[in-house]
Amino acid sequence: MTDSLVPVFDGHNDVLLRLFRETEPGAEQRFLAGLEGGHLDLPRMRAGGMVGGLFAIFVPSPPSAPDEQPRVPSQEEAQATTLKMASILLRIERASAGKLRICRDVAAIRAAVAEGAVAAVMHIEGAEAIDPEFHMLEVLQAAGLRSIGPVWSRPNIFGHGVPFKFPSPPDTGPGLTDLGKELVRQCNARRILIDLSHMNEQGFWEVAAISDAPLVASHSNVHALSESSRNLTARQLAAIRERRGLVGLNFATGFLRHDGKMTADTELECMIRHLDALLEALGEDGVAIGSDFDGATIPQPIGDVAGLPNLVQAMLEHQYGEALVRKIAAENWLGLLERTWAP
Ligand code: ZN
Repeated sequence: MTDSLVPVFDGHNDVLLRLFRETEPGAEQRFLAGLEGGHLDLPRMRAGGMVGGLFAIFVPSPPSAPDEQPRVPSQEEAQATTLKMASILLRIERASAGKLRICRDVAAIRAAVAEGAVAAVMHIEGAEAIDPEFHMLEVLQAAGLRSIGPVWSRPNIFGHGVPFKFPSPPDTGPGLTDLGKELVRQCNARRILIDLSHMNEQGFWEVAAISDAPLVASHSNVHALSESSRNLTARQLAAIRERRGLVGLNFATGFLRHDGKMTADTELECMIRHLDALLEALGEDGVAIGSDFDGATIPQPIGDVAGLPNLVQAMLEHQYGEALVRKIAAENWLGLLERTWAP
């Protein structure tokens, strides 16, 4: 099987943020033709077997002192940035002549993959752009939005994100606001995925209590192996399993390593230890990939998206078997999206 690439559907990347930050026009053309540096572009996705994934829209925090927690962007700023990043993805689709498609249901993802196109799902990481009356949610859903993380690792009108701390439990304070709980209900009614990565533990349990959808952490790891506030406790993993949810393995070395260090000098074995623990906690249907490409320092043995086959190879060498590897690499995400979007 190793002569053909195992398809990977990935739960989280930040390439839109990288393109947003470029000052030269034509970023979408450069994404399609291939970029210098970074982790993700179309040629390298093809080389690595990445057939699709969730493309995050993230509004950067206004500048703050190094010892301060991230500051919160205003709603005006967040809306302007969010619309611009959504338009970058729409422009990539338009310029790609069918090579990348923004997918709004699983049938569209499967069709894109079957035809060799990249299947992109529009995701928001931190809902600062969404107003209290959900007008923006209406427009963004029409533009293709199918997944929302109500908070990033900072507070907003919907709740308190989990601050980056190591070592720290994810239980860092109050969770969702009343408006945040209403956002969860709105997402349920619209069959928009609610992403629990970046939520603190209180917010996690509040979503679990309100939401009728599977519980999903698109890019998080195992707290018992790396005591980051961003990682999931055994109780949280048990709840995700019970709710037929999913966790995407985050490649960020700061959430993989026992010592929490952000260094590319990190072995694939460290990722396999998290996968073993996730499989143990969640079962074979609950484990997937959530790379954080273009958003984090990732292990050097992967390097960028073209290095995904090295992780696939490590799973095979670890005796996962081809069927399980294919589930972790792509099929579990498609099953989860089906259960979430069209239950
Ligand atoms: Zn993130």
